[in-house]
Amino acid sequence: MRNGLLLKYGEIAIKGNNRKLFENLLIKNIENQLRSVGDYRVTKEQGRILVEPKTIQPEEGASSEGTSSVEDAIPVLQKVFGIVGISPVTIFKDNSLESIAEHTIEFLQEEYGGTEHQSFKVDCRRSDKSYPLNSIELATEMGSRILDVFPGWTVDVHNPETRIMIELRTRVYVYAHTIPGPGGMPVSDDNKAALLLSGGIDSPVAGWMMAKRGVSLCGVYFHAHPYTSDRAREKVIELARRLSEYSGNFRLYVVPFTDIELDIYDHCPQDEITIIMRRLMMRIAEKIARREGAEALITGEDLGQVASQTLQSLVCTDAVCTMPVFRPLIGFDKQEIIDIAQKIDTFETSILPYEDCCTIFVAKHPVTRPKLGRIEKSELLLSNVEEAIDKAVEDSEVVILRRGRRI
Ligand code: ATP
Ligand code: MG
Repeated sequence: MRNGLLLKYGEIAIKGNNRKLFENLLIKNIENQLRSVGDYRVTKEQGRILVEPKTIQPEEGASSEGTSSVEDAIPVLQKVFGIVGISPVTIFKDNSLESIAEHTIEFLQEEYGGTEHQSFKVDCRRSDKSYPLNSIELATEMGSRILDVFPGWTVDVHNPETRIMIELRTRVYVYAHTIPGPGGMPVSDDNKAALLLSGGIDSPVAGWMMAKRGVSLCGVYFHAHPYTSDRAREKVIELARRLSEYSGNFRLYVVPFTDIELDIYDHCPQDEITIIMRRLMMRIAEKIARREGAEALITGEDLGQVASQTLQSLVCTDAVCTMPVFRPLIGFDKQEIIDIAQKIDTFETSILPYEDCCTIFVAKHPVTRPKLGRIEKSELLLSNVEEAIDKAVEDSEVVILRRGRRI
C-alpha cells in the first residue's frame, strides 16, 4: 500500500551554500499548502523530501474517515513550486526477503494492476551493507518474483518502461513512477511583487510565471463601479484565489478607479486616455506595493497586442514608475499564453464575458507612438492627481486569499 510520497527537487539541489535555506523554505511551503487537506509529516532525507500522512489509528470498529491520505496530497503538491517529481512510495520496516517481495508485489498491483504488458527493471540500493544479498542479487530475486505474478511483463535493463526502485535504509522504500511537479523555485516572502491583475487571460499567467521563480504575490485590481459590475470584481477575486493555490498568500486590493477614469476621460485628449490611465494605474500600484512590502510590479503586457502595448507605450508607462516592472509574457504569442492559462486552470475564469474598465473607457483611436513630453503635459489637465491617488489607495478594499481559500 502506498503510504508516502517521495519528492524530488532539481534546481534547488544545485544551489551550493544556499541549499539548506531553499530546502527549509520548500519544506515550510509544503507544510503550509498541505494544511488545507490534512495532517502530514514532512521530512528531509538525503536530497529528497518525504511526505507521510499522520495516521491517527482509528479505534477498533470505528471508520478511518478523516485520516489524511496520500491521494489528497498529490494535487496540492503539484502546485508547490520547487518540486520536480512526486513518487508514491510504500515504506515498511521489515527488510526480510519475504516482506520486501510481498510489499513490492502489493505496491505494483495497486499501481499497475490492469497493465498486461510492460517492460521493467528493478533497481536496488542498500545503505546497510551487511544485508545478506547485494543490490544486484536482490534486484534479480525481486525481478523473478515479479515475473511470477505478472507473467506478461518483460525485463529490460537498458530501456525499461518502468523502473522499480527498492531502497534499503533504516526502513525499506519501494516506488516506481514519478508524477511531474511544477518545477521552479520555492515561493519566498522575501521576494514580493505586486501583480496588476485584470480579469483577462494574460495577467494571471504573468503572476504565475513570477511565482514560479520564487516571487510571492499581492494583487491590484482597478474597479470602475458602476461601469464595471460586481461580477467582474468577483471574477478577479476568483483568479486571485486560483493563483493563491500556487503562491500561498495573496492580498488583493480592489481599487475604486471610477473618479480617476472619469477625470481622465473628461479632461485629457481622447487619443491619450489609455496611456494616461495606465500611468496612473502604475502610480497607484506602486503605492500599494510599498505598503505591502513588495519591491516590483508585474503586468500581463505583451509587445504589440494592442495600441497600449507598443514599445513606445511601454516606455511612457515605465517613465512614471520607480520600481522595476516585470512583464514575463513579453516574448510570448497569444496561443502560448492561452496554453499556460489552461494548464494552470485560470483560462475558463478569464474568458467569462464580464467587462473590464479598460474596455469601457477605451480611446477610439489611441496614439500608438505616444511622446512622453506630450503625455506629461496632458496629465497637468487633471485636478489634484496626488490626492486622487492617495484616496484610491485609502479607499481600496482588501480581499485576502490563502492557499485557495477566501478568508
Ligand atoms: P489581460 O489579459 O491581463 O487583461 P490584456 O492583453 O487585456 O491583458 P490590457 O487590457 O492592455 O491587456 O492590460 C495590460 C495589463 O495591464 C494587464 O495584463 C494587467 O496587468 C494590467 N491591467 C489592465 N487592466 C487592469 C485592471 N482593471 N486592473 C488591474 N490591472 C489591469
Ligand atoms: Mg485586459
